[in-house]
Amino acid sequence: MPGFELFDDAEKKEVNEVLETGILMRYGFDGPRKGIWKSKELEQAICSTFGTGYAQLTSSGTAALTTAMAALGIGADDEVIMPAFTFVASFEAVLSMGAVPVLVDIDETLTLSPAAVKAAITPKTKCVMPVHMCGSMADLDALQQICKEHDLILLEDACQSIGGTYKGKSLGTIGHAGTFSFDFVKTMTCGEGGVVMTNNQEVYTKCDAFTDHGHDHLGADRGADLHPFLGYNFRISELHAAVGLAQIKKLDRFLAIQRKNNGILKSYLEQVPGISFRVVPDPSGDSASFLSWFLPTAEAMEKAIAAMKEAGIMPGNFYWYANNWHYIKKWDHLKNAHSLYPFSQAQQSALKNLAHTSFSQSDAIMSRCISTAISLVWTEEQVHQKGATFLEVLKKALS
Ligand SMILES: *Cc1c(COP(=O)(O)O)cnc(C)c1O
Repeated sequence: MPGFELFDDAEKKEVNEVLETGILMRYGFDGPRKGIWKSKELEQAICSTFGTGYAQLTSSGTAALTTAMAALGIGADDEVIMPAFTFVASFEAVLSMGAVPVLVDIDETLTLSPAAVKAAITPKTKCVMPVHMCGSMADLDALQQICKEHDLILLEDACQSIGGTYKGKSLGTIGHAGTFSFDFVKTMTCGEGGVVMTNNQEVYTKCDAFTDHGHDHLGADRGADLHPFLGYNFRISELHAAVGLAQIKKLDRFLAIQRKNNGILKSYLEQVPGISFRVVPDPSGDSASFLSWFLPTAEAMEKAIAAMKEAGIMPGNFYWYANNWHYIKKWDHLKNAHSLYPFSQAQQSALKNLAHTSFSQSDAIMSRCISTAISLVWTEEQVHQKGATFLEVLKKALS
């Protein structure tokens, strides 16, 4: 799963090239930087690797989501429909724009249920944000259709699915915009970083300026730039971009390892009576960073978890239902609107509503689901060993 597992001299070489010049900033200093432009180079590599027209690097995946929303004109009181199973960053970005997160049920794709999205649309809805969780994808055809019918923006949070595809197109490049995170535990990392991808030049130009205080970047002298609109500082540094540049060159290797290890593990788990797997709308596009599986009931899952803990094989297996970062059940800080600063009326009432909303459909899925993280450093022998142990422990626990 995480690219940091396969660090070597390639990362050091890229970072050292930046340290040689001492120019750690992505803009300006044209003479002293001696032709070293790691951020620009990484943006070009992202465009060619993922087949997107434009890429704007940011300081994080959260900043990428915020930037994308700003560039797409999503702001005060606009409702953004998103899944109840995600990472906290998705709603943090929405709230930071003054917009209103509307969390809805997931289905067995482990992301937005198209029916739940339809049911949540109001005159205030501006955007649908599928989150391609755990390496695989939402039902993008269905969601795109809904967005077309209702004239809504489709923003893909693809932070967890770098390298995944849907019908031949990279996840994150299919909606009006999409984002990746390059934080330390993602499929490829910059240490910290993120990117907004879009095929719309105007959206890109806005992202470019927004992430650098609104600088229009049109002249040779950044200090003399005009500011057509307000921005922030969501810049990536050259040091971080350098790490990413080494990592993107290894991405094909990461994906090949993930797919191989995932396939081997699945061949064992398939033999567990009653087990089923996450619905993947385009199986050939699964990035395979996780293998997500279900047992028939929450009780069976409880038994399985107890047995896995006892056998010492629980690490690396994520039971999101009981986890603080990823599922609505434990997000009391969100439901109670524990903010350091005042929220708008619309945000406050939406969060109050959320506290009283039932997510029984999602509960029924998440309480039976475990995602097994796929490591890049397992040997083939180790994966077979893990699979065999898994099978033995689960079979015994469920018999
Ligand atoms: C990691 C992640 C983000 C945010 O990324 P950071 O770079 O850590 O800010 C957003 N959404 C999802 C689904 C993520 O997993």
